[in-house]
Amino acid sequence: MPRFCRLLTALTLFLSLGWAHAQGETVITASHPLAAEAGATILHQGGNAVDAAAAVQFALNVVEPQSSGIGGGAFILVYLAKTHETLVIDAREVAPAAATADQFAHHTFGENSVNGIAVGVPGTLAGFAEAQRRWGKKSLAAVLQPAIGLARQGFAVTPYLAHELASPRAALQPETRALFRNGAGQPLQVGDWLRQPDLARTFEQIAAEGPGVFYQGKIAGAIVAAQRRSTLGPAGVGRMTLADLAGYRVALRTPLIGRYQDYTLVTMPPPSSGGLALLQTLGLLEHFPLGRAEGFGAGELSATHVTIEALRLAMGDRALWLGDPAATPVPVARLLDGHYLLQLVHAMDVEKRMPDSGSGLEPEGTHTTHFTVVDAEGNVVSCTSTVEAVWGSGILVPGYGFLLNNELTDFNRVPKAGPQDPGANDVRPGMRPRSSMAPTLVFRQGQWLLAYGSPGGSTIISTVLEMTLDLLDDHLTGDAAVRIPRFAVLNAAGETLVEPALSPGLIDALRAQGHRLILTPEPIGSVQLIGEDPVTHERWGAADPRREGTVIRF
Ligand code: GLU
Repeated sequence: MPRFCRLLTALTLFLSLGWAHAQGETVITASHPLAAEAGATILHQGGNAVDAAAAVQFALNVVEPQSSGIGGGAFILVYLAKTHETLVIDAREVAPAAATADQFAHHTFGENSVNGIAVGVPGTLAGFAEAQRRWGKKSLAAVLQPAIGLARQGFAVTPYLAHELASPRAALQPETRALFRNGAGQPLQVGDWLRQPDLARTFEQIAAEGPGVFYQGKIAGAIVAAQRRSTLGPAGVGRMTLADLAGYRVALRTPLIGRYQDYTLVTMPPPSSGGLALLQTLGLLEHFPLGRAEGFGAGELSATHVTIEALRLAMGDRALWLGDPAATPVPVARLLDGHYLLQLVHAMDVEKRMPDSGSGLEPEGTHTTHFTVVDAEGNVVSCTSTVEAVWGSGILVPGYGFLLNNELTDFNRVPKAGPQDPGANDVRPGMRPRSSMAPTLVFRQGQWLLAYGSPGGSTIISTVLEMTLDLLDDHLTGDAAVRIPRFAVLNAAGETLVEPALSPGLIDALRAQGHRLILTPEPIGSVQLIGEDPVTHERWGAADPRREGTVIRF
């Protein structure tokens, strides 16, 4: 090639790479391919990351209805590239005004969770409408279109959805039996076609009239009627009123910010316990120079042992102090204080398990969903969204086709307030139940590097921690980090779930140290991750194979 041509080629390449950097790749990761596609459609139509995230959420309501939707709640972390700010929309469900501290005390978690009493005032629609109003480029109506299409035309049931449809919670009510069972009363199978015309109409009404139709209009009336369903007599009847729905407000929060080595972690503040427990555990682990060169799957025994112990300590503080900050101030600064963390470090033993402390926790749902988006300008959304247990309360709003959450079971089942305990997570009217959801962003020297999160109830804390260590300490690729086998510390008492793929040698050795490990047939978490290479600025995504995680990048 003549020299001039080579120069021209180099110049063209330089210009195009320069443009690619300024604009950057767009990446979406979600736990269902059709939801990721919905986000891509909106980006192709000129929407930004916030618009695309809203489209992903509404599509997930259609294709992964067991996990999230407009009948639930969400935490939405938004990083704005232009101003370098991260803001949080807290669209968590709230307890109705008539809620009482002992409303769950007389029944089990399982009983409460499938009755109207468990339904919190939903926040997801208000949350995305608010995010779009502040930062979006498209209308709410525009971002609802992909979900409307999917609900009306239908889609083929995927293996993960078929697995979840087999749960009895998918068919507790006549409406869910009609929708999710075939003519013979059997769960829909892989490849069966699922159409949701009621849900399509609901989305169309919201597109035409705005969120008001949900919070104050006819959908509100239908929600209030549906959450009166009870199999427990009056004790199971939901207490939500039209006034509770009309009064629902999202909270705009400042994220929780912490440092780990030379990284800055930006994560979810209370009412989630997730971000605080993550930062506390990292603060403890920084005192232990542990080699984790091969990650947790094959890592050193001492690293896993110490990590379990650090998580137990964080889970102990979580049980005592974490709840809605509007109800009981959460001593965030004290729990992250260096001197306090050092005291906890002194309680830890690198050789053996600490004696039992703290109590076990009530069961929690684990079927939430996480998705992440980065747009061409570098705006990032990291969102964890939920209806709590799989299929939420099991109550589908008749005629409207969406499930109501059972999020209020995230409150203490039995009130704890007393001389030794602030009862931070006791049921209180108008308050948000404690969560573990921890959508997280990582920066270095002001530059955005990573965004991730996971479902999994209290296991979210361990999963997000393991992701952080695998990515930042061990420099695993995103794909390796989402695949590596996980463990999850459930409570201060130290029951630890373990994926069977974790190395048998490690499992035996941990057991020999006294750790109580429970091999779980259910996968732990489902991480959706995006990142940007700090040097080349190339963006990438990784999605969890434990569900139908999908990455779209263009
Ligand atoms: N309700 C749980 C929380 O807010 C999430 C449940 C799940 O991950 O499925 O922490």
